Amino acid sequence: MAKEAVLSPLHNLLAPPGLPCLTCGKMISGSEKGYPEICSSCYASIPWIRNLKCAACGRPVGCPDCTREGVPARNFVLNRSAVAYNATMREWLAQYKFRGNEALGPVLARMAGFAAQRMLRELSEKNGGTSRFRFDAVTFVPVSEDRLMERGFNQARTLALEASAILGSPLLPLLERIRHTEKQSFKSRWQRLRDLQGIFCPADNAWDLLQPALYRSVAKTFPRSVFSWHDAMIAETSEARPVRLLLVDDVYTTGSTVDTCAGLLRELCEYWGRTAEVYCLTWARS
Ligand SMILES: [Zn+2]
Ligand SMILES: [Zn+2]
Repeated sequence: MAKEAVLSPLHNLLAPPGLPCLTCGKMISGSEKGYPEICSSCYASIPWIRNLKCAACGRPVGCPDCTREGVPARNFVLNRSAVAYNATMREWLAQYKFRGNEALGPVLARMAGFAAQRMLRELSEKNGGTSRFRFDAVTFVPVSEDRLMERGFNQARTLALEASAILGSPLLPLLERIRHTEKQSFKSRWQRLRDLQGIFCPADNAWDLLQPALYRSVAKTFPRSVFSWHDAMIAETSEARPVRLLLVDDVYTTGSTVDTCAGLLRELCEYWGRTAEVYCLTWARS
């Protein structure tokens, strides 16, 4: 049977034969399941992270960053990424972020979604496998107002939206960016770390956004026949269960951005008498 005949109508609608590949521009003659917008050779070039070498930061290669003497404790539990940040991935992200190839957003989001699914499986297994691990909320590294005006979107939010749908946890804009820094790539590691101080802060309404999410999540965890809604609310507000948050960004390089943001999320919860566990999901790991 011809390959076209087994594709769903939706699939055909998304990529009618003869459409150019979103990333290389060549005509698509065959594509991979779930990725109709790119050609099969572009799909084949995706450096999926299949084997973790570092359980902390999700790196696919040996990791001096997490094992070096004197590395301060991080504000997040772990990071997981979908792909290694190689030249091809750098190019795809640049096309999306800086060169107006906005249609790439859903493709990158789907890739991050794959990592979110895998992360959920991993955490559920670590949790004893008896119940699905649940994040109370998904949030993302914010961009400044200027950036948002100039680019029209926040790539981290696009990725987080997909993760939120997959994980069944609400997407909440808990953080804000105060001022935007100059291009990171031209700076030394030290300059980058210094610049991150004071550029993020929790949104004014962050706790108001988070509170209903905590109740919703406890209502899903306990069947109503066992715990009444009221008991669940009491248990939720008084006990020491940590607030579990997923923080999403596009690329993990030194980890300083997600670490700063994770620190703020923890401070926010601490302020309201709760401890937080922050997990990070990034599309690419450099
Ligand atoms: Zn292609
Ligand atoms: Zn590491």
